Amino acid sequence: MVLRIRGYALPHGEFVDLYADGDRWTTDPVPNAELAAEGWLLPGLVDAHTHPGATSPGDPLDDGVLREDLLRHVDAGVTLIRSPGLAGDPPPWFGEDPDLPRAVHAGPWLAQHGQFFDGWGNRVDHAELPSVAAAQAARSGWAKIIADWGPEDAAVPVDVLKAAADAVHATGGRLAVHTQHSAGSTAAVAAGVDSVEHGMWLDSGLLPDMARQGIALTPTLSGFQGMLPGLRDRPDGPAKDWLLGGTEALGPLVAAAVEAGVRVLAGTDSHPHGLIADEIRALAGTGIRTHDALAAASWSAREFLGLGGLEPGAPADAVVYAEDPRTDLGQLAAPLAVILRGRRVRPHA
Ligand SMILES: [Zn+2]
Repeated sequence: MVLRIRGYALPHGEFVDLYADGDRWTTDPVPNAELAAEGWLLPGLVDAHTHPGATSPGDPLDDGVLREDLLRHVDAGVTLIRSPGLAGDPPPWFGEDPDLPRAVHAGPWLAQHGQFFDGWGNRVDHAELPSVAAAQAARSGWAKIIADWGPEDAAVPVDVLKAAADAVHATGGRLAVHTQHSAGSTAAVAAGVDSVEHGMWLDSGLLPDMARQGIALTPTLSGFQGMLPGLRDRPDGPAKDWLLGGTEALGPLVAAAVEAGVRVLAGTDSHPHGLIADEIRALAGTGIRTHDALAAASWSAREFLGLGGLEPGAPADAVVYAEDPRTDLGQLAAPLAVILRGRRVRPHA
């Protein structure tokens, strides 16, 4: 049975009538196609920063946990994820299973010695970082470098990060960089990486340069904001100032990034999985338009990751809402249908 959707398609809101020809949308009518849903259509949601498959930092990748985490993403309307770091090499069905989201990943995190979670990721000498990152990107399309970690940790030097970005790009891959220090994000932007993850303490003066270079920002805002109550109760000191001040500055940074034309990506980076709506609300809470908050979690993120929207020839993903989610983000909690690879995967038949 061929599946059909129709309604007002974001970002532009034009009326479309689409049929799933396998895993491709087409406007060519198919007789007796099943109308899955009609309303307001997005080309699926995207969680661009999530680490499914492990319950606690340091745990090995567990296929059962991975599947459960990915099902929670689909429940939330997510049809595509990017994992900038995984606890291990994923099984062959990752990103391929018809019931689970499409997925791109960066393999294990690449970190400096003495930084990052014990038991997770690979520790790499500066001299080896470009070749190790390039080899990972050649395997999976992305590499992920932890440019800095704790409040006192030194960032990866800019020349090392630049060599890594160049080596990754030479393979046709892309580089995501975790940073929570101004030195790390400054080095990442100067190095010409592809995405800055978190961007805590990022100098807003760098935003025009990021926009010019097409460097995306994934603030994982809801994850940080979720820590705020506990953070405020911590003993005063440099560590608290670093995390609390950085978190409080992140919302205004997001608003300034959108204003500067930087592509912002929605990423949850948190447990439980499937909380992309929380991140969309957090982004909207910075004062940007709900249109832009939804873009970060849908069409703009898909474009950044190489997938088209609700147009002929594009992969047949969609999430359908009764009303325009831009005027009511509450719609995100109750999609009428989630379409993945031309099949309706929610609600369950
Ligand atoms: Zn992360």
